[in-house]
Order: sequence, then structure tokens, then C-alpha cells
Amino acid sequence: MLTPQLVPQLADAALIAIIAVVVVLIAGTAGLVVARNRRGGELPAATPPAPIETAEPTVGEDAEEPRDTPTRTLEDTALPELEKPESAQGRLVRLRARLARSQGSLGKGLLALLSRDKLDEETWEDIETTLITADVGVAPTQELVERLRTRVRVEGVGGEKARTILREELIALVDPSMDRSLNVDRQGDKPAVVLMVGVNGTGKTTTVGRLARVLVAEDKKVLLGAADTFRAAAADQLQTWGERVGAPTVRGPEGGDPASIAFDAVKRGIEEQADVVLIDTAGRLHTKTGLMDELGKVKRVIEKAAEVDEVLLVIDATTGQNGLTQARVFAEVITVTGLVLTKLDGTAKGGIVIAVQRELGVPVKLVGLGEGADDLAPFDPEQFVDALLD
Ligand code: GDP
Repeated sequence: MLTPQLVPQLADAALIAIIAVVVVLIAGTAGLVVARNRRGGELPAATPPAPIETAEPTVGEDAEEPRDTPTRTLEDTALPELEKPESAQGRLVRLRARLARSQGSLGKGLLALLSRDKLDEETWEDIETTLITADVGVAPTQELVERLRTRVRVEGVGGEKARTILREELIALVDPSMDRSLNVDRQGDKPAVVLMVGVNGTGKTTTVGRLARVLVAEDKKVLLGAADTFRAAAADQLQTWGERVGAPTVRGPEGGDPASIAFDAVKRGIEEQADVVLIDTAGRLHTKTGLMDELGKVKRVIEKAAEVDEVLLVIDATTGQNGLTQARVFAEVITVTGLVLTKLDGTAKGGIVIAVQRELGVPVKLVGLGEGADDLAPFDPEQFVDALLD
């Protein structure tokens, strides 16, 4: 029963209860903020506290992420949205139309010249010019013209003959005997390590991302190493590629030591039993010795943990002779095991495939034929030549 004597006592009890709730709320909020700061590491040093007079909420502030939003783990964020990349098989077939479009004038031009009724000296000169303009290179051009001359003399060029001869000789020039397979299988208890090198802007980071997709499509466990610490956005770019297919990225501080990031990536790859560790590097061509020092160190440091199985040199096909010169410098500072020719969709000078292989004695293993995520294909000489002549 509520007696008049009890009312003040109850009011006291209610006041005590309210104070207790307020104290608990304040303590809880402080605890959350501390815990959050601990979890997130250091607070960003450059953010000064808001001045008291502007502490009122303003328009747009509620667009900020609430402070007590629980931190999501990689599993929470990455897994549900994983993409299923297209398998490597048949990529070049799908991209053949694009290749034919960009390289059509080379193949068709050659075919038209070779199919002429009368193959006089002027026509042979035109064939030579067509090849050299398409960046095939002087020595391979002369070799090809010599072989074509001989075969035409012996076999003639009537009907489909010109096409057959040209196809066979171009394939021979691209050299189908070269081993174009990628060394991306685990070696014993260690992952395969692939180092991507090349001048900035050639498409290195994009190629690492796309190659990760090719490998994930083959059910390989892939880990990325963001050792391009020179270009500010490179690590973010790489991480985004990785997140799309569930491949984690090991990264370090901006401007940090590329070799130590590469080493950390390989070490984590070993611990987590990855199949392949793909490492993006910076391609500053300031001086040859600078490049040699940096790439040499990255490779040496990695080799303390595991073998480097592939060193892929990325070359922008649209840069022609310049690309060749760059390739030469890289080949002098590091042993290149395969070439990646990007942006073949953006040039009619597909002859660079032949020139650069000849120049370095290293096979083109992959080609980039567009800006799409799955526009990287294994290189195949026959399909390449067929696309030229389509
Ligand atoms: P990096 O500095 O060598 O790492 O170069 P990026 O990977 O950032 O690529 C530079 C630009 O080239 C980007 O805009 C890519 O989309 C573009 N790119 C890369 N490969 C290809 C390709 O095969 N075709 C086309 N058209 N663009 C490409």
C-alpha cells in the first residue's frame, strides 16, 4: 500500500536509479570509445577535436558511419560478393574478335599484297614496309620476307595458297615451340612466387589483379603482395582486385620498403599454404642502377623464404620501340621468365609480339586485350595469327 510516508523514500530510490543508469551509460560509452581506439590502433594524429562552438550537429553529419558500428571482418565483407572469374580456357577465343579488329589491317594488308597476281619487287617492298610499320622488327621482317619469297617461288600463290603460306610462316615467326606455361604450382610445401615487373603505367597492377582472377578460376589459393610502394594508389588498387575474388593483400606503409613487403607476403603465403603469391612492384626507370638495386633486393629478400618461380615483364604494346628499350633495361637487371603484352587492343602494331620475343629470347605468356577484368588471356601463337588473318 502506498502510504504518504513511503512517497519521499520512493522518490529518493527513483533518483538514485536514474543517476545509476546515467553513470552506467557514460562509463559504457567511454569504454566503447577506448575499445574502438585500441582496436583501430593509433588515432589519426591530424584530426583536431571539433571546437566547442561548432560541436552542434550540422547538415550531412549523419552521413558519417556511426561510431559504434561493429567492425566487420574480412570474411563478413568479402565472401558474399565474390565474383566468379572467367576461366582461362577460351579467353583468347572470346577476345579474338577484338584482336582481329585492332590488328586486322596488318593481316589483311599482308594477305592482299601476297595475293597479287604479280609479285614484283615493289610488292615485296610493300610487304616489308607493312611488317616494319607493325613493329615486327627489321631482322624478323627480313627473315619472313625471305621465307615467303622462297615458298611463293616453289609453291605459287594461287587460290587459298597465299593465305596458307602466310599463316604458316607467321606462326613459325611467333615460334610455337616456346614454353608459354606459367609456373604457378606449389613447390613442395611452398607457394609459387610470381614477381610482376615493368615501367609504371604499363598495366602491372591491373595484370596482377587479372592474373589473380585467372588463378582463382583454376581453384588456386592466391595471395597478393603490394610491393609497389612508390605509387600511392597502387596498394588500394591491388587490394580492390583481390577483394573481388577473395585473395587477401599484404601491404605496408606508403613509401615503405618493397623488399620487406614482398618478404612478408611470401612468408604469409607459406604460413597460410597459398598456392601462388603474386607480387606487384614499382617500375621507376630513373636510373638503371636504382632499378637494379630495388628489384635485385626484392628478389634476394624473397629468396630467403622461397624460390621466385616467374618474373613477368609487363610491356605496353602501344609504346612500340620505347617499350622495347624499356624491356631491354629490365632484362639486364633481372632474369625475366615471361612477357605480358598489355593494350594490344589499342594498337595496330601487333608485330611487337614478335620483336620483343626475339629481342629478349623470352616468350610472351599473356596478352591484355581490353580494360575489362577478364580481358587478360594466355598467349597462343596460332590463335594470334588466325586473328590477324581473320
Ligand atoms: P601500372 O602503373 O603498371 O601498375 O599500371 P596500371 O595497372 O595502373 O594500368 C595503367 C592503365 O592501363 C589502367 O588504366 C588500365 O586500365 C590500363 N590497361 C591495362 N591493361 C590494359 C589492356 O590490356 N588494354 C587497355 N585498353 N588498357 C589496359
